[in-house]
Amino acid sequence: MIKSGRQALYLVPEIALTTQIIKRLKNVFGEKVGIYHSKLNSQERVEVWEKVLQFKTEPTKGYQVVLGARSAVFLPFSNLGIIIVDEEHENSFKQFDPAPRYNARDMAVVLGFQHEAKVLLGSATPSFESYFNAINGKYALVNLFKRHSKMELPEIIVADVKRAYKRKQMHSILTPELFIQMETALENGEQIILFQNRRGYSPFVECFKCGWIPKCQNCDVSLTYHKYKNRLTCHYCGFSQSLHNSCDSCGSPEVKTRGFGTEKIEDEIKLLFKNARIARMDLDTTQNKHAFEKIIHNLENKKTDILVGTQMVTKGLDFEHVSVVGILNADNLINFPDFRAHERAYQLISQVAGRAGRKHKRGKVIIQTSQPDHLLIELIKNQDYTRVWKTQLEERNLFKYPPIYRLIKITVKHKNVSTVERASEMLGVELRKIKSIVVLGPEFPLIARIQLWYQKEIWLKFDRKINSDQVKSLVLEAIQTTKQSPLNSNCMINVDVDPA
Ligand SMILES: [Zn+2]
Ligand SMILES: [Zn+2]
Repeated sequence: MIKSGRQALYLVPEIALTTQIIKRLKNVFGEKVGIYHSKLNSQERVEVWEKVLQFKTEPTKGYQVVLGARSAVFLPFSNLGIIIVDEEHENSFKQFDPAPRYNARDMAVVLGFQHEAKVLLGSATPSFESYFNAINGKYALVNLFKRHSKMELPEIIVADVKRAYKRKQMHSILTPELFIQMETALENGEQIILFQNRRGYSPFVECFKCGWIPKCQNCDVSLTYHKYKNRLTCHYCGFSQSLHNSCDSCGSPEVKTRGFGTEKIEDEIKLLFKNARIARMDLDTTQNKHAFEKIIHNLENKKTDILVGTQMVTKGLDFEHVSVVGILNADNLINFPDFRAHERAYQLISQVAGRAGRKHKRGKVIIQTSQPDHLLIELIKNQDYTRVWKTQLEERNLFKYPPIYRLIKITVKHKNVSTVERASEMLGVELRKIKSIVVLGPEFPLIARIQLWYQKEIWLKFDRKINSDQVKSLVLEAIQTTKQSPLNSNCMINVDVDPA
């Protein structure tokens, strides 16, 4: 495409995590490459914008290749030849809040259509939406059956946490299976990645006597304990308070931390492997500008033996000497209350697992779970994407979910809970007048209040074959009718089409 004088857009889920790709692209394309993402300041953004625009009149000076995060789809391309969406299944292509609520992967398809450009969606674990389109002939499907450099898939070992607890075989939070693999790896001078999708020390604190749990004063969630700051923090609004020595409710001094996040894992691992060099990668340790690069650099140069981290460790990084990957708690991925939970759990665990093993050695992945017989665990173990897809598709069809049906999520928000109740009820009645759609709710979501705003959700489901423009205009009408009532006029009503 570049040879034929056209532009290329290369979308990645998170630019901060892609220093390796930036380097590689710049090595090949040099000055032609522009980088665009939301962390740039407005002056830097204007610069990229102008150089993309300049390509139209002065092709040698403007940017011909753009590597960007989701917002790069809005740049003023004049002649796109190809759009590449890397890790197309990633959730971070979707913008939830604020508006515009869009999925850059879907926008890429529309943009490609406008420019008559090729669009390439890449993933080892495709989103069910894209796979559905490929199976049905809307997209072409290209399978890669051979792994790069003939690397073998890692060996997956399922470790039963419940049994190990019962038999008193746990080493702190590690099952004997994971502990032994870690010991062996360290003896051989190999590296280890431990994954847990919760940051902080422990997800919540609880009074042993009366069960009281400290909650955020602005949101309907429990506060996460961060040991290094010795504070309880809300992960939704940032509110924080110091940890009291006694229960606010009954005064008992037995207030204890429950569960474990990345910070606690780091602490526990330090006690178990005294000589190992341990690093942690999560939102808390990567706040400083170069913190992320430093963690990666240390791992690449074997200055770190064990890396503990959240989702961040899953994102397409290649490390030469990682031989063991531990997934500390697969249960909270599998049991997450969302219709996409199994799809996500499969994607996430496969991505982390992919970090284990390199050219000359097969890696080992240890999955800790209390449900070792769960069907999904078995499918993950066999790395059987097709069967996950088939079983999930049956369920989605039965319960009218994407990719077979389309979804619209409507959120009604107000600081006053009764206003939310009234407005959402009324909207529900209006929406039920639309014959071709299924209306669920209004219902309080899992977290009913965020930053002092109460919220109720209404979910709409409709067949893909139905004209969606017609549905959308009827939905808009229903919202306007609701808003016209003076009692509801200062309610916030957000619409999210194809929520992720
Ligand atoms: Zn909060
Ligand atoms: Zn208490």
